[in-house]
Amino acid sequence: MQKGHIGVTTDNIFPIIKKFLYSDHDIFLRELVSNAVDATQKLKTLSSVGEFKGETGDLKVYVKLDEKAGTLTVSDNGIGMTAEEIDKYINQIAFSGAEEFLEKYKNDANAIIGHFGLGFYSSFMVSKKVEIVTKSYKEGAQAVRWSCDGTPEYKIENIDKAQRGTDIVLYIDDENKEFLEKSKIEELLKKYCRFLPVPVIFGKKQEWKDGKYVDTDEDNQINETNPAWTRKPSELTDEDYKKFYQDLYPMSEEPLFWIHLNVDYPFKLTGILYFPKVKNSMELQRNKIQLYCNQVFVTDSVEGIVPEFLTLLHGVIDSPDIPLNVSRSYLQSDSNVKKISNHITKKVADRLQEIFNQDRAKFEEKWDSLKIFIQYGMLTDEKFAERAEKFVLLKNVDDKFYTLEEYKTLVSGSQTDKDGNTIYLYTTDKESQFSYIEIAKSKGYDVLLMDGQLDTHFASKMEQKLEKTQFVRVDSDVIDNIIRKDHKAEVTLSEDEKTSLDIMFKSQMPKVEKTEFIVTFEALGENAQPIIITQAEFVRRMKEMAAMNPMYNLYGEMPETFNMVINADHPVTKRLLAEEETACSAELKPLVDKIHSLEQYQKDLNATHANKKDDEIPPIEKADLEKTAKELSELGEQRSGILSRYAADNKLVRQLIDIALLSNGQLKGEALSNFIKRSVDLL
Ligand code: ADP
Repeated sequence: MQKGHIGVTTDNIFPIIKKFLYSDHDIFLRELVSNAVDATQKLKTLSSVGEFKGETGDLKVYVKLDEKAGTLTVSDNGIGMTAEEIDKYINQIAFSGAEEFLEKYKNDANAIIGHFGLGFYSSFMVSKKVEIVTKSYKEGAQAVRWSCDGTPEYKIENIDKAQRGTDIVLYIDDENKEFLEKSKIEELLKKYCRFLPVPVIFGKKQEWKDGKYVDTDEDNQINETNPAWTRKPSELTDEDYKKFYQDLYPMSEEPLFWIHLNVDYPFKLTGILYFPKVKNSMELQRNKIQLYCNQVFVTDSVEGIVPEFLTLLHGVIDSPDIPLNVSRSYLQSDSNVKKISNHITKKVADRLQEIFNQDRAKFEEKWDSLKIFIQYGMLTDEKFAERAEKFVLLKNVDDKFYTLEEYKTLVSGSQTDKDGNTIYLYTTDKESQFSYIEIAKSKGYDVLLMDGQLDTHFASKMEQKLEKTQFVRVDSDVIDNIIRKDHKAEVTLSEDEKTSLDIMFKSQMPKVEKTEFIVTFEALGENAQPIIITQAEFVRRMKEMAAMNPMYNLYGEMPETFNMVINADHPVTKRLLAEEETACSAELKPLVDKIHSLEQYQKDLNATHANKKDDEIPPIEKADLEKTAKELSELGEQRSGILSRYAADNKLVRQLIDIALLSNGQLKGEALSNFIKRSVDLL
């Protein structure tokens, strides 16, 4: 028996391990099982190069619980260690600059363990005592037992051990009793060891017999040693890929596509990335990609390692070249990691392009689910955007798909306005914007369906990319204003008529909080609708941005403004004016005449002042102007009063406003029910 002092420069690493590594206690098991796996793989290698001439036997790792003894044991039949090797690999730990590093990364057990090569020592996070019982593969090796009870002192002694290999025996301490529970260990093994390349055995398989579970003779193997990503794509069928996906995410629907990554140079990386099927963006989940290092699970939070938008994908990435046992901030600035990230982006884009080229029908069929990934990618990653331009699709209201190039060909010309801008019309809701879509279609225009969560952002992005192209929602103005051609029909109403209509409609405009309706006039032709509601593209987009991003809060606070557009050509408009004339002219005529003559007077007077400076205008004329303005405003109010009184319960006005609201999806509740009653009355 020999005693010694663990070779660290700090007084004692054990308090540090216990104190600082409180966050990730779980990972000790990963470390021990990986060491065991490494030891068996090393033996395999030695055997294959002829350095080990004995029988390797069935190479397996066993994890055993002994609740009575309070121990958890990880055993392997790998290379084992001699006393000298224990001294070299276990007793001597490089531990310089420890304090500072520990202070910085105290919440990151991975970083600490990686930095100091403390894999084995992480067992002290949960143990009061640890034993290494080991016998080297070397011929005539003496088996030894090393033990340490959490002080810097260790003991090492010669023992008898028949089998080659190592048992690591943990005497679990009182604060960590959970690690003596079968279910806990099973959970950890499933998490970290599920795809290790050497069989990991934990107890026996059980079966249901006589009303309870009993052990069978069969080993309970935790892991799948050849997971799909480690195999050659040529060996795998679609079913294999789908099955692997099901294994990873048992509750998920079938994936849309997958990409098998296999990189050798300039770094090693394998993996399979899946595009999940999502019904709506609420289902999008980050952190579904699992990161492995030589088949050892490391983490499922992959930000910084894969490009941001790919965190929405599912699957597995395995790379020995990603420095896993380091802190996140280090990872994110690591140039190797950046290269890997760029490479994955390229692969994903290539694969999408390939599917698009090979089977466009399939690509289109899955577009609705795929769209959010591709748009998100294009919005957040310029490199990806450049590649995706060739396969990103636009879908119109008739479910036809176009690439950017194809769509440009389709609409340029017909939807190019007099200034040379091509207008891409879109709708966000086929139902509620139905009548606007119909109007656009009747003009021979195409309307895109852009009802996705990112579509507004995507439209802005495309406007920057595509030259002289604007995306405009079908209900943002009357169609001839959205796409202005050279000749535009003139509104034939007189100013008085416009004023009358304005007052009449305003008298019955719905009072909705934070909403403003502005009456405007357009010549839309006799056969078009008598009235429609529009909302300017700019205003709506700002509102939408505000809803998603607090930075635009200012716009969120602004009232909603809608245009109530009256079709000056429509017979109903003419009828309204005629009826108003009949009913009000006796009272209004003298008033309007007076207004006209005062306006003329005001105009003439102003004309004589046109070239004069303010102090050259005689005070008496200034006073006169003021008086005229005041009189005009009073007369205007009288006129408003008369017309408002007349129109306030005019059913036709009410009905027109409601029709406009209805076709814009804004007529609801009581107002809708009143509208129906009134419509029935009119019948
Ligand atoms: P790392 O695994 O990062 O090198 P560890 O502290 O986990 O750090 O292990 C230190 C060394 O101890 C290993 O590199 C290996 O040489 C040796 N070792 C640990 N566990 C075993 C084992 N089960 N069988 C053989 N050697 C082992």
